[in-house]
Amino acid sequence: MSTIGFIGLGNMGLPMATNLVKAGHEVLGFDMSPEVLEAAKEASIITCATAADAASEAETTITMLPNGEILLSVMAEITSVTPKGALLIDCSTVDVESAKTFHAQAATAGLGSIDCPVSGGIGGATAGTLTFMIGGSEADCKRAEPILDILGGRQVRCGESGAGQAAKICNNMLLATTMVGVGEAFSLGKKLDLDPQALYDVMSTSSGSCWSINTYCPVAGVGPTTPADNDFKPGFASSLMIKDASLAQVAADSAGQATPMGSRALELYKEFAAQSEEDVDFSGIITWLEDLNRG
Ligand code: NAD
Repeated sequence: MSTIGFIGLGNMGLPMATNLVKAGHEVLGFDMSPEVLEAAKEASIITCATAADAASEAETTITMLPNGEILLSVMAEITSVTPKGALLIDCSTVDVESAKTFHAQAATAGLGSIDCPVSGGIGGATAGTLTFMIGGSEADCKRAEPILDILGGRQVRCGESGAGQAAKICNNMLLATTMVGVGEAFSLGKKLDLDPQALYDVMSTSSGSCWSINTYCPVAGVGPTTPADNDFKPGFASSLMIKDASLAQVAADSAGQATPMGSRALELYKEFAAQSEEDVDFSGIITWLEDLNRG
């Protein structure tokens, strides 16, 4: 058993921290929200009054926060009180520059660090089946392994500092473009009077097959059960897709790489979200695409 600090106990953080408690670790948790802290107490997490309190006794501290700015503000609170030699694991999705700053600040304070964004959503966080994309030294990745084994099924070391975040946003930029493409293909098929089941049977086994068809088909009653079968309740909310696709564009700007499909997919997601009353699952963009007429 070890003592683990956990900062950010929201939709993802709370089930992750709960799995660590279930595995026999002592978890010291902090979140800005009093309601969230109440829920954490019920999950046998020892709740703290500040982020610094959660990190100051811990051999490992995990952060699961909304963005890079908040991550760095938490770093400013915890680096001086975290025991020297402890390991920081940032599982939030943040911009690559903030991830690199996080590593640099940890190193200055004598702490190990990995950027470790996740894939798998709230379901994966609850089931302990997340996939981790990791940036950091080999030694720090090795140290993190026993904890990440509790939280997920797969760990991929992508390279040095910031490489996990870079891999995450490349993947999610691709996901945004494939989901738009799949939505367009099914919308066109509908207008051409194709049975969506027949189109699924073809595309899921042909050269167009991809995760957005085979695993996350956006058509109700077709393929595996997905948010399409549940009125597009998230799942992975459109706002989170917009966040990740925006981070990809920030990275593309700073790297000087043109990503015409990625930037167009982001625009389409923004247009879709602007006219949606609810923050529906990102695959719900098909309902908006179906209503677009050729001008
Ligand atoms: P969330 O908004 O539910 O949780 C974030 C938590 O951080 C909130 O409880 C909030 O109160 C807390 N917080 C904010 N500022 C804080 C501070 N200064 N100190 C302590 N706590 C603070 O978000 P989430 O869905 O849990 O996502 C967390 C991260 O995981 C994000 O970076 C998101 O992009 C990423 N992510 C989410 C999903 C998903 O499906 N929800 C999937 C993959 C990755």
